[in-house]
Amino acid sequence: MIVIKVGGSRGINYDRVCADLSGLYQRGEKFVLVHGGSYETNLLSEKLGKPPRFVTSASGYESRFTDRETLEIFSMIYCGKMNTAIVEKLQALGVKAIGLSGVDGRLLEGVRKASVKIIENGKRRILHGDYTGKVERVNTELIHLLAGAGYVLVVSPPAISFEGEAINVDGDRAAAKIAEALKADKLIILSNVPGLLRDVADESSLVPHIIPSQLDSYMEIALGRMKKKIMAAGEALAAGVGEVVLADARIEQPILRAVAGQGTVIKA
Ligand code: ADP
Repeated sequence: MIVIKVGGSRGINYDRVCADLSGLYQRGEKFVLVHGGSYETNLLSEKLGKPPRFVTSASGYESRFTDRETLEIFSMIYCGKMNTAIVEKLQALGVKAIGLSGVDGRLLEGVRKASVKIIENGKRRILHGDYTGKVERVNTELIHLLAGAGYVLVVSPPAISFEGEAINVDGDRAAAKIAEALKADKLIILSNVPGLLRDVADESSLVPHIIPSQLDSYMEIALGRMKKKIMAAGEALAAGVGEVVLADARIEQPILRAVAGQGTVIKA
């Protein structure tokens, strides 16, 4: 079993990702796809006159402040436009794909964090009314039920809180939780960069291999949302996933290349 996460940043080639997935499917490989939608969410938010608000937590992580209206726009893109388009592409390629958000059948459950402590202009502030959280439980029964019937799951945030509210969760960490729950051999995280770069501005500065025990030291070069990918990798490996690869989703055969070790391979 492989868990594949494809991001939502600008430049990602979903046709190439889906073509590669259909190849895996034809060969009988078992996988779950998790996807993002950040760039498209930002575009729609601007169009609707509700520009995205990114905040930096006191611990230095960047996230989208998600009030109820933002959550609704977020769902329009993640569960609507992006999820349907990916399922559509896979169906056209003969893959028995089915799209689900973490809310459907309580696929991804977690605790809602209704307020967030942020640093803004050097000052600490608390923002209320946030619908975010972290996945803590994966409904593996539902995954096995659908996979057993031959369906390929295409999963997107939001997740659902234990109280039943939709919550925005980080896709990379959600994918890590799914990989843990399914005891996956590999977690592949595809984005619009070749992997972890020593210098974000230089695509040739790829870090090809990281030993899990040294992962923390790479937090310094992982800026912005790349930090979440490093965190997700650490969580998946600590939970027993054999290998995590951070790789490029813009190129031909992005998944096959990642499986072959092109990208940042994180394993013992
Ligand atoms: P996705 O939506 O595809 O998951 P993100 O936007 O969340 O992608 O994360 C990928 C982005 O992380 C890259 O576009 C890049 O700008 C940024 N980034 C920050 N630091 C690094 C780094 N050291 N190496 C690679 N990318 C980095």
